[in-house]
Amino acid sequence: MEYFCLGCGKRFPADELYYTCPDCGGVFLLENLDFDKLKETSGEEWRKIFDDRAATKNTALRGIFRFYELMAPVLEEKDIVYLGEGNTPIIESSENLGRATRMATAYKNDGQNPSASFKDRGMACAFSYLRSLVRANDWDQILTVCASTGDTSAAAALYASYIGGPIKSVVILPHGKVTPAQLSQPLGSGATVLEVPGVFDDCMKVVEHLADNYRVALLNSKNSWRILGQESYAFEIAQWFDWNMENKNIFVPIGNAGNITAIMAGFLKLYELEIIDELPRMFGVQSHHADPVYRYYSVEDAQQRAYKPVIVTPSVAQAAMIGNPVSFPRVKHFAEKYEAIAGEDAFHVIQVTEQQIMDSMIQANRNGHIACTQGGESFAGAKRARELGLVASDELCILDSTAHHLKFVDFQSMYFENTFPAEFEVAPDQSLANKPELIISPDEKEKLSPEEYTRATADKVVAKLGLQGK
Ligand SMILES: *Cc1c(COP(=O)(O)O)cnc(C)c1O
Ligand SMILES: [Zn+2]
Repeated sequence: MEYFCLGCGKRFPADELYYTCPDCGGVFLLENLDFDKLKETSGEEWRKIFDDRAATKNTALRGIFRFYELMAPVLEEKDIVYLGEGNTPIIESSENLGRATRMATAYKNDGQNPSASFKDRGMACAFSYLRSLVRANDWDQILTVCASTGDTSAAAALYASYIGGPIKSVVILPHGKVTPAQLSQPLGSGATVLEVPGVFDDCMKVVEHLADNYRVALLNSKNSWRILGQESYAFEIAQWFDWNMENKNIFVPIGNAGNITAIMAGFLKLYELEIIDELPRMFGVQSHHADPVYRYYSVEDAQQRAYKPVIVTPSVAQAAMIGNPVSFPRVKHFAEKYEAIAGEDAFHVIQVTEQQIMDSMIQANRNGHIACTQGGESFAGAKRARELGLVASDELCILDSTAHHLKFVDFQSMYFENTFPAEFEVAPDQSLANKPELIISPDEKEKLSPEEYTRATADKVVAKLGLQGK
């Protein structure tokens, strides 16, 4: 395999750890030089190989490396780390939800990964690679560093602490800008947690300075090994639908744009190997508070488009609140390929409001789903795409809930308690507010014997619910 620089086009061998191009600072893609050899195996044979492998008990090939040949076939099985990542479920929208939206939607719950976000896919690949490097070079210590909106550090810290030994993890977070659950994860995994005042983009600059000047393994999504692992999301969707991508639309929130890059790259590989015979349509979704990719593509004439970072304002889709996405050149690269094969209609970037994101998350979860705020963003994007006439009502929209709902419950609390700071521009629908109710006061409890207390409490529950005796 080789690193291929999207900036200057130079190539570098993959047996060395590169974060960005040493010549021009551009981002890399990892390319399998033997990819064309894979074409000697037919699409049908590949489908059978991957379907058979779904039953394996070999842990190295159970997770994202079920698709080993499509990802990093240079890694040896003994280096592959498996913590149960990948193969996350695809859950059709509940009947009630489908009735409300009059759309066919399904959530792929990437929050059901070990550290509760899709970041585990990329980390499993990056750490497997690191482990191979440690072995090959006999390193006695390697420090992994990442800046994070929360989930990257949770994933990096988990994998680092599992492997242990020479691999140690340091994470750099924007002070006060990650949820308590996200902060507790790297702390619990024993990582060194350093906080910086500012937002994610500030942390990123610090980390890049470290990468330029010191010997550290940077695990941000500029790291092309992570992108490779995240391609598994696309492979799993294709396999789940028996490799039939007809009338399928994929909705993905865009932050640093690594995930949408990987998903497009993944589907393109499947298409090139004739494992699928049609590309699903791709929709990136951004909040109006952090929408540089949307702004770029909102200019119709491709010649007139100019990329400009934006200054972000607070977003409930906090993990995607990024004004200068590092993988933008990758998105451009794959979007062009995608459109060349499947037409201009095959790739869109949709903008949604903070209000729509919150309303959509609350609506999904009241109907049996476990969407995080970014999952709300995917859902809001699908509704918006329908409104714009970009998807038909009978086409399936597959929504990425990139993390578990539980990581982002603070935003749910703000919604229910109507405590959003004005900058969020979210006015909760108060009819949806759900709050716990204290049914009997501690003072009352004091005055009662244990039996009386049980009886009095039960009576209050009966009165409250209007229960009938049997
Ligand atoms: C990282 C992250 C995103 C953004 O993904 P990118 O690859 O940066 O575009 C979205 N949602 C969650 C939960 C994340 O952790
Ligand atoms: Zn370069």
